Amino acid sequence: MQHLLAALLTRGYRVLGPTVRENAIVYDTLTSVDDLPIGYTDEQDGGSYRLKRRADQALFGYAVGPQSWKSFLHPPSIRLWHAKREGRSFQMIPEQQEVPKLAFFGVRSCELHALAIQDRVFLQGAYVDPVYQARRDRLCIVAVNCGQAGGTCFCASMETGPQVTAGFDLALTEVLQEDRHYFVIQIGTAAGAELFHEVPYREASSEEIERAEHIVKETAEHMGRHLETTGIKETLYRNLDHPRWEEVAQRCLSCANCTMVCPTCFCTTVEDVTDLTGQQAERWRTWDSCFTADFSYISGGSIRPSVKARYRQWMTHKLATWIDQFGTSGCVGCGRCITWCPVGIDITEEARAIAKEDTR
Ligand code: SF4
Ligand code: SF4
Repeated sequence: MQHLLAALLTRGYRVLGPTVRENAIVYDTLTSVDDLPIGYTDEQDGGSYRLKRRADQALFGYAVGPQSWKSFLHPPSIRLWHAKREGRSFQMIPEQQEVPKLAFFGVRSCELHALAIQDRVFLQGAYVDPVYQARRDRLCIVAVNCGQAGGTCFCASMETGPQVTAGFDLALTEVLQEDRHYFVIQIGTAAGAELFHEVPYREASSEEIERAEHIVKETAEHMGRHLETTGIKETLYRNLDHPRWEEVAQRCLSCANCTMVCPTCFCTTVEDVTDLTGQQAERWRTWDSCFTADFSYISGGSIRPSVKARYRQWMTHKLATWIDQFGTSGCVGCGRCITWCPVGIDITEEARAIAKEDTR
């Protein structure tokens, strides 16, 4: 692995990958394999996350943490332009952002699907987002097949994992045996092939490939959560007045955590700031959430004044209206919104409760 990391660093990439910080696995700069969460795993459930030590030295023996890759391509806060007063006039100054050349190391299948969704939103509509595009165009992706499912994962239900299928330069499967620890590597692009040839390797035997495939198959069979997706769009459309929305609203704090951790949520707001002297003004774009009252404020008030309306908007967008808007579900089954909800609200449980008492 160190050879692969070194090859990326030599090519001038800022390599980002999983590392341990404040008792969680987050994505940050990697300069050595030792920066990875070696020998760690995580326990996840509704509103609960805990790191634990493993008995082995696995490099990727955990599920996804609180952070998603979107924060590097679609920054949480970015200045769009600033203006300076010049006498009785002012000068608009566009941002000259230095765009880093990024390599994402250790991207899971659900996250590749989330990236594809964000590509559709930011690059494939009527308006291309230049901030996202500048980062995405130069991105190198080293993916990892999941060797164990997290307690809140349900990518198998969403058909977004755990097997990596597309959208990577290289894909790794970590194999841990009693006497051996190795990686089976799959090449996804010409850039990946070029990188790969800097790593000492030999052709994998059919037994090694089978073992790697078996690991991913086992992971798929041990998902922590399940979501029944058949007819889910129609079920939600039929049940906009279901009593369950009121029930979940009694528990929901409208804190917006679920939207902040979600790898596909993309909503933003724009704020203008002036300094006290009146000499400079700035325009910032920051992440926003459908769980804030201000987000749906129009002349006369917010169109979603209640928590019930906001939760219903979020869940029906993820699982139903997103399909009409973009052609896929807005959920990739990463489980983050369940783990990082402070009161443990579980999107799979809410969908199940509505389907169970479908008001058709
Ligand atoms: S809705 Fe929840 S489970 Fe689905 S992609 Fe977003 S954070 Fe992950
Ligand atoms: S569902 Fe949970 S994370 Fe989302 S806004 Fe409500 S309390 Fe916060």
